[in-house]
Amino acid sequence: MSGSRTSGSTFVGMPAFPEAAHNAVNNPTLRGNLRHATHTIRAKRADAVAELSDWAELREAGKQIKDHTLRHLDRYLVELEASVTTAGGTVHWAADGDEANRIVARLVQETGESEVVKVKSMATQEIGLNEALEAVGVRAYETDLAELIVQLGKDRPSHILVPAIHRNRGEIRDIFRSEMGAWGRPAPEGLTDAPTELAEAARLHLREKFLRAKVGISGANFMVAETGTLVVVESEGNGRMCLTLPETLISVVGIEKIVPTWRDLEVFLQTLPRSSTAERMNPYTSMWTGTTDGDGPRAFHLVLLDNGRSDTLADEVGRQALRCIRCSACLNVCPVYERAGGHAYGSVYPGPIGAILSPQLRGTGSAVDASLPYASSLCGACYDVCPVAIDIPEVLVHLRERVVQGGPVTRDGSKVVLRPAKGHGAERVAMRAARWAFSRPGALRAGQRVASRTRRLHPRSLPGPGRAWSATRDLPPVPAESFRDWWQRTKGGEGGAQ
Ligand code: SF4
Repeated sequence: MSGSRTSGSTFVGMPAFPEAAHNAVNNPTLRGNLRHATHTIRAKRADAVAELSDWAELREAGKQIKDHTLRHLDRYLVELEASVTTAGGTVHWAADGDEANRIVARLVQETGESEVVKVKSMATQEIGLNEALEAVGVRAYETDLAELIVQLGKDRPSHILVPAIHRNRGEIRDIFRSEMGAWGRPAPEGLTDAPTELAEAARLHLREKFLRAKVGISGANFMVAETGTLVVVESEGNGRMCLTLPETLISVVGIEKIVPTWRDLEVFLQTLPRSSTAERMNPYTSMWTGTTDGDGPRAFHLVLLDNGRSDTLADEVGRQALRCIRCSACLNVCPVYERAGGHAYGSVYPGPIGAILSPQLRGTGSAVDASLPYASSLCGACYDVCPVAIDIPEVLVHLRERVVQGGPVTRDGSKVVLRPAKGHGAERVAMRAARWAFSRPGALRAGQRVASRTRRLHPRSLPGPGRAWSATRDLPPVPAESFRDWWQRTKGGEGGAQ
């Protein structure tokens, strides 16, 4: 599929990562909230994973299942469509976010309803569904607690699993007090920042919406091709309400969320909860297959979303990002995310996975997308914790190469223009000079000797655009003798020196 790609409208026009991160890094409250939350989750995850003696095997199995599925995605998607249809559902194909939004808006309008309840869904945030529904007079209510906080606070999500991770309890109390009344049942009088009181206020606020809504909208963590079953895992039970109470259920799911069989689910239902919430299993695992008379929604629609995924799949290195099961473990260990927060990534997908997924789904034409492959120290902590072994540093370097080269994004002929990020012109000149020197051994040797003999005259910091780099690093001293000269002197010219 191809077509124009839609980004979450709430993130449109975001500045490049360094600029956006600068604001976050200078916010001590935000830094404190992020540090506390990520360190707590990462420690619990490590304990939960350490309980399993076969974690490495599970990780490899998850990787293999996802790779196999992606290799045969066309076949499994057709199988899924047939299974869902047989079970009483209707499948819609959306090449991009605009098409998906149009389909969902039409389906809701056909029910005659002007309100929908939503279970947390990254795919619908990716395409800006709430805003598209609002444009046609339909109000979407987020029901995941963290998403509710984000929606009431007119905010943007900043974490995959905990979208309001940047908020502390006092801030949440203030948001509930000032905003709940405009969306429905107001916050109770005298609401404090005690977690039980905040949870109860949200429960009462949401309960009336669940009981009233006739249309529910969801995403899915997995889709099983062999039976057409969709799976949502969550911790609160609000998702279960959205999935079972409304008369019509519309699920918007990225095409990469498919697994071939129920047996494959076994692996991910072990690795996902331990990696995300550090639980042995999710408190709520909801599964539904089409429709069933007298049980749950009477109409079920599945909107299969591409929105750049086919292009990502066409890239041999970058396609591994499609293995992601959105556990958020990579965010919680990332030193850059911990300081910059999620908003700086300019997308619903923050952190290390966002840094490799957004520039592939959207291309690198915007300032923020061209800067994301650089939003990493390449320390590799993300790769170590990833339950499907996505080599995020490898993809980051691959995408940096593309940004610098300004080459095409896709290999299927659809040209996506990549613009080199600001300041990369100097890097390109430096790389060309290095290529020239390394392909001429005589010139390289002469240059090394000149550098050695003049080493006491070398500046301690780089001039021009290199100044920012050397401001926080020591330039390595040039040795008095190059390796080649040392080799020739001590080994009597056996190879090496030319
Ligand atoms: S990249 Fe790996 S660690 Fe990060 S969210 Fe996806 S599955 Fe989890």
